[in-house]
Amino acid sequence: MNKFEQLGLNESLLLAVKDLGFENPSEVQEKAIPILLEQNTDIVALAQTGTGKTAAFGFPLIQKIDADDKSTQGLILSPTRELCLQITNEIKQYSKYIKGLHTVAVYGGASITEQAREVKRGAQIIVATPGRMQDMINRGLVNIKNINFCVLDEADEMLNMGFYDDICSILSDTPDEKNTWLFSATMPQEVARIAKQFMHEPQEITVGAKNSGSSTVSHEFYMVNARDRYEALKRLADANPDIFSVVFCRTKRDTQSVAEKLIEDGYNAAALHGDLSQAQRDGVMKAFRGRQIQMLVATDVAARGIDVDNVTHVVNYQLPDEIETYNHRSGRTGRAGKLGTSIVIVTKSEIRKIHAIEKIIKQKFEEKSIPSGIEICE
Ligand code: ADP
Ligand code: MG
Repeated sequence: MNKFEQLGLNESLLLAVKDLGFENPSEVQEKAIPILLEQNTDIVALAQTGTGKTAAFGFPLIQKIDADDKSTQGLILSPTRELCLQITNEIKQYSKYIKGLHTVAVYGGASITEQAREVKRGAQIIVATPGRMQDMINRGLVNIKNINFCVLDEADEMLNMGFYDDICSILSDTPDEKNTWLFSATMPQEVARIAKQFMHEPQEITVGAKNSGSSTVSHEFYMVNARDRYEALKRLADANPDIFSVVFCRTKRDTQSVAEKLIEDGYNAAALHGDLSQAQRDGVMKAFRGRQIQMLVATDVAARGIDVDNVTHVVNYQLPDEIETYNHRSGRTGRAGKLGTSIVIVTKSEIRKIHAIEKIIKQKFEEKSIPSGIEICE
């Protein structure tokens, strides 16, 4: 009996697990799946990004759904449209051997009528951003009055993005008897508040240290003069010809201009930010996944939760305003136990932030110097 069988997964899911090539359950899966399968309970699971949370709630959710009943039984809320699409895709892969099980993604920036039509055709699972979900409810396009399960994925991110009111209102629209499964990397106060308000004696699962970053990621910083940021980025790319990275900027404007400069200078780069159309964003993500793009220059919001395997480097072209965001950025690499490097390009005046981040991630940065060429560090 393999380890997934021991968790209590049924035949159809085990076949899907085999196709996915998962050999052993991750820690959060090992802890959460048996509880969610065997008990009707609320749960709060804290685990860093890249620890396999999607399957930790996805497998039990699929197993508990009645595929012969066409009504919506499970709702997964997630912070961004990219994540919605990603989770929907994963759930579809997990449930591919289950006839009649339909999962629909509901998110902004795409036709609400088309999404409503899909839901109406029968969607036992809806994966939605809170904003669009609320919109659908307001317009009477969806019925979640009979759902049995509500998953709050990346709860900390959803609340960071200002979805508190939408989440409260959506949860109030669901039956009291449902189970709520909350997954989050961190447990800030707002998440605790949601748990307290809407959950009944949730069981708690914690994987790894609370609030700490992934230990397969090493952290480095390069000190430069402010005007040399871009030159430093180019040199880092030149020194790592196989780089496959997400480069974070603070604003949409910087994201766009850094990407444009990189493309002009002959790098395989593209920008990902909220001013692009949904089709453009999908195109960029597809090219990145397909490795036609080596440097994805992104804002925090656009890159949130994106799961692309084998990202070698996360580059903080600029540090985020909130140092907690650093964790989410560096979580784009070192996924599923692989090694990764998170690089920060800093100026002298920002060095305090590095020390503050070290406290949060409980890891030390290594100071490095920009590779070869003219001296650009003071
Ligand atoms: P999280 O939501 O915690 O950030 P994901 O669910 O996106 O993590 O999973 C991260 C990556 O690990 C995905 O590429 C996923 O396919 C892979 N993964 C998940 N569970 C396993 C497993 N048991 N064995 C191998 N890979 C896994
Ligand atoms: Mg996730």
